[in-house]
Amino acid sequence: MSKERRTIEITPRLISPGGRITEVLESRGHECTYCQGNGYFWQENCYRERYKQECPVCKGSGRLDAVISIQWRASNDTGR
Ligand SMILES: [Zn+2]
Repeated sequence: MSKERRTIEITPRLISPGGRITEVLESRGHECTYCQGNGYFWQENCYRERYKQECPVCKGSGRLDAVISIQWRASNDTGR
C-alpha cells in the first residue's frame, strides 16, 4: 500500500513590528483514515439488506483537510 507524505516548510516572512502574527495553512484532501477514503461503511438493516452508512468523521467525502495555525512571537516572549 502506498503512503502519501506532505511536508510543511516553516519560514518567518511578512512579519512587521506590533504583536504576534498568526498564519493559517490548509492542506486539503487527505484520505480519511476512519473509512479508508470510501466515505461510507456497509451496514445491514433488520431485513438483512445492505446499505451505505455515511462515515461520521469525513461526512461521506472520504477526505479530510488539515488546518494548521502557526503563531509567530519573539523567542524571549514567554507571555500568552
Ligand atoms: Zn471517512
